[in-house]
Amino acid sequence: MTGCSSLRYTAGSHCLSTPCWRISSKKSCCRLCFGCVPCDGRVENGLEGSGYGSWGPRHQCLPVLGCHHGRAADKMPSAGHLQAPALRVRSSQVSAGRPREREALAAVPLFQPQNLREDQVLSLEGRPGDLTCKSQRLMLQVGLIHPASPGCYHLLPYTVRAMEKLVRVVDQEMQAIGGQKVNMPSLSPAELWRATSRWDSMGKELLRLRDRHGKEYCLGPTHEEAITALVASQKTLSYKQLPVLLYQVTRKFRDEPRPRFGLLRGREFYMKDMYTFDSSPEAARRTYSLVCDAYGSLFDRLGLQCLQVQADVGSIGGTMSHEFQLPVDVGEDRLALCPRCSFSANVETLDLAQTNCPACQGPLTETKGIEVGHTFYLGTKYSSIFNAQFTNVHGKASLAEMGCYGLGVTRILAAAIEVLSAEDCIRWPGLLAPYQVCLIPPKKGSKEEAAAELTGHLYDHITEAVPQLRGEVLLDDRTHLTIGNRLKDADKLGYPFVIIAGKRALDEPAHFEVRCQNTGEVVFLTKRESWNY
Ligand SMILES: [Zn+2]
Repeated sequence: MTGCSSLRYTAGSHCLSTPCWRISSKKSCCRLCFGCVPCDGRVENGLEGSGYGSWGPRHQCLPVLGCHHGRAADKMPSAGHLQAPALRVRSSQVSAGRPREREALAAVPLFQPQNLREDQVLSLEGRPGDLTCKSQRLMLQVGLIHPASPGCYHLLPYTVRAMEKLVRVVDQEMQAIGGQKVNMPSLSPAELWRATSRWDSMGKELLRLRDRHGKEYCLGPTHEEAITALVASQKTLSYKQLPVLLYQVTRKFRDEPRPRFGLLRGREFYMKDMYTFDSSPEAARRTYSLVCDAYGSLFDRLGLQCLQVQADVGSIGGTMSHEFQLPVDVGEDRLALCPRCSFSANVETLDLAQTNCPACQGPLTETKGIEVGHTFYLGTKYSSIFNAQFTNVHGKASLAEMGCYGLGVTRILAAAIEVLSAEDCIRWPGLLAPYQVCLIPPKKGSKEEAAAELTGHLYDHITEAVPQLRGEVLLDDRTHLTIGNRLKDADKLGYPFVIIAGKRALDEPAHFEVRCQNTGEVVFLTKRESWNY
């Protein structure tokens, strides 16, 4: 086992594989890899066989398909990387052999990969000028999303798979710093918002409604009020229990005046919001750095180069705030960066006339960015209103020091596609690709049709031999289509690896064409080689 050079270890991670569930105190597995061999192939949340990476002291890291996060070719595994360590699996894992159910396309008549022309996509959106960026166009073209109403999209099956993977990575990072997951109602009573005066100050962005009794609600865009009231209801909170870090990944609502850029600026979207409660300002600042570091780690693992910039506190409030910005032209935020020192800020926070760095006086440069995360140090702004208290070391009641931390989950997905994709082909962060491998058997009625059965065997073998690929291999059995057409779809959809049973599948021994879509490398592997994986 050579391991990969980018291995990074972490202490104190949760082990996500049942039956472990423990927090590992030891240095454990590679966090950049696609995954490690799970204890027994089971992973949490009923996502059995989904192949998500997991780590823990008992897991051995296999740098299979790993580290192809990001777009830089030098980060990609070479074909050699794929052949060698990926396929070296302990014999005990390959011995037990009943065939698994294959994930295939032909049996799923609805929501197949699409390859729509730009004019067909435009008619989907319904309004001219609504196709505003690359990620939106590509996601519509291949059938990842479908417009429902302005700023609202149906997330189709591939997108849901990618989203679930993203949520999994977010969960890993939040739980690694002690975050506990909750789930709060989207319906948020008006009286909570009146208590903080935000019922009025949020203005038209707040989507408001009334129930049959005339009681007023909003559909939550954020949950400072709700979570603070929840924590305040826990009357016995002691300083010994702090810090408390609570987070959720839920749908949020914002009545955007002009929704655009597909999933980048919608009216209904997924957000991860974390709220933290500490016993002192110093402790709260430590928690703040901890969460910012976790965000850094998350974006590293996704292969996204994010900037942490000084930001305005806006309607959330507090005394310190940072945004995590992904630099890209379509971004709506203007960022000022100092090439000399590490200063970076959203221009909103600077004086209009300011052209020099406030830290070193060097000239500032400007770039555009998509905000994918936002952190706020809130102090006691909300805890003082809802009386969120704890018993301090002297036995006296004391107000909790709070922070809140958002991540735009659907936005990260779209922004990653925006940044990583080519003009005509989607490219995903390796961790998020809906399927890792697409297997293309020969066309029905073609000379190579005899190799169809071999492809099925290869599918069974790969998913049997490489546990982290269970549920990650898709058989494109739309055999009425040519290999070329299916390869075109596969390239557009961005599966990291495509395996084709073409002409050389009839060789003795048969050879399969393995394409690494991120590097463009192509190698031919025999069935014997695949059996030795
Ligand atoms: Zn500077």
